[in-house]
Amino acid sequence: MQSRGVALREAIISSPALPFSEGLKPKPHICKLNKPWVRTIMASAVSTANSEQVAVKAQEPPPLQVSRRLEKFKTTIFTQMSILAVKHGAVNLGQGFPNFDGPEFVKEAAIKAIREGKNQYARGYGVPELNSAVAARFKKDTGLTVDPEKEVTVTSGCTEAIAATMLGLINPGDEVIIFSPFYDSYQATLSMSDAKIKTVTLRPPDFAVPEKELREVFSENTRAILINTPHNPTGKMFSQKELELIASLCIENDALAFTDEVYDKLAFEAEHISMASLPGMYERTVTMNSLGKTFSLTGWKIGWAIAPPHLSWGVRQAHSYLTFSTSTPMQWASVAALQAPDSYYEELLKDYRAKKNILVDGLKTVGFKVYDSPGTYFVVVDHTPFGFDNDIAFCEHLIEKVGVVAIPTSVFYVDPNEGKNLVRFTFAKDEDTLKQAIERMKANLKR
Ligand code: GLN
Repeated sequence: MQSRGVALREAIISSPALPFSEGLKPKPHICKLNKPWVRTIMASAVSTANSEQVAVKAQEPPPLQVSRRLEKFKTTIFTQMSILAVKHGAVNLGQGFPNFDGPEFVKEAAIKAIREGKNQYARGYGVPELNSAVAARFKKDTGLTVDPEKEVTVTSGCTEAIAATMLGLINPGDEVIIFSPFYDSYQATLSMSDAKIKTVTLRPPDFAVPEKELREVFSENTRAILINTPHNPTGKMFSQKELELIASLCIENDALAFTDEVYDKLAFEAEHISMASLPGMYERTVTMNSLGKTFSLTGWKIGWAIAPPHLSWGVRQAHSYLTFSTSTPMQWASVAALQAPDSYYEELLKDYRAKKNILVDGLKTVGFKVYDSPGTYFVVVDHTPFGFDNDIAFCEHLIEKVGVVAIPTSVFYVDPNEGKNLVRFTFAKDEDTLKQAIERMKANLKR
């Protein structure tokens, strides 16, 4: 069972633009030879160039080019797995996006905004009404009053907020601490910022913060620590005690905290706690969030960063030159979304709890060791009862022979070995889809 997984891992590690196990294959190009640019490109490849159209089989595709900052990164695992899901007709419990639609009242608000002509550039740091709605939600959630004009920046999803925060506040060589397993964009945007990445690993079964290791990695060279709670991929929620430990280390070492809280409304067992709400932390924290997960509209890409004015300045400078501003009608619709009554969030959690139960119970029946996932719409399991050497080999088998897609977690570690026993499933799918995936695993996955 082992060699295929190793081969696949090699493919993932060594081939930058591959759909999972398949590397780039040279494609025959059909070219018009009378175009000057084609003539230049093809001068070496074509010897008899007197016909109008010639099919040329490229022996070697031109080498892929990418800056040094990004050369070690691969096609994101989410893209790879979603492509494979389609290719193999597999049930996609990989990439975290709902296969159901967002609420009508939010979609209607977007349509209305478009009809009303709210279609030109928005103010760079956000439509004023959305900045205010974000500030109001933050106040309700954390008790903190922020100035929507100076402390809220609307971005193109939380992913852009993360990039703008790193690029706007991190200098080359600055040390930034992240917890493994980490969401893939953290490492890539830190690399774009030329930061020095320090990692601390969260280990099963409870993915608790290892205090000694964290203390060791913090120093006066630490510029920032990035915290994702509830945590993708494990579903862990940082406890009050863990956040207090991190806060005390930030204060002691004069470091910043960057927090990704996009799953804050998907907290099943405990209240979500924002790092910014801890004493002494607001002034050194950038709190990031988005609309996508909470309103099942991941394609809208509306996010935001909340930070005191002196930190918002750096975030806004980077945002200004990354995207400048974000989709205007979607921002207007987001205002409507954020005005949703509490019952909306209660209903969302209730629905997700039912989905989570179907997936977790099903995975246990299939024979996985399922780790507790207090938040997010993900669960992490140990696949080793099925005898595969690593997560990649297991996921390959799961797609091809079982017809289900999961995410191998080794790609979320600096040392892939640390994640080789773990795979992630999402329950952001309708109940029939979840049941179908479980049935397929029950029928085709043998210990
Ligand atoms: N956040 C989603 C996940 O973890 C993926 C988003 C993406 O594909 N970049 O599955």
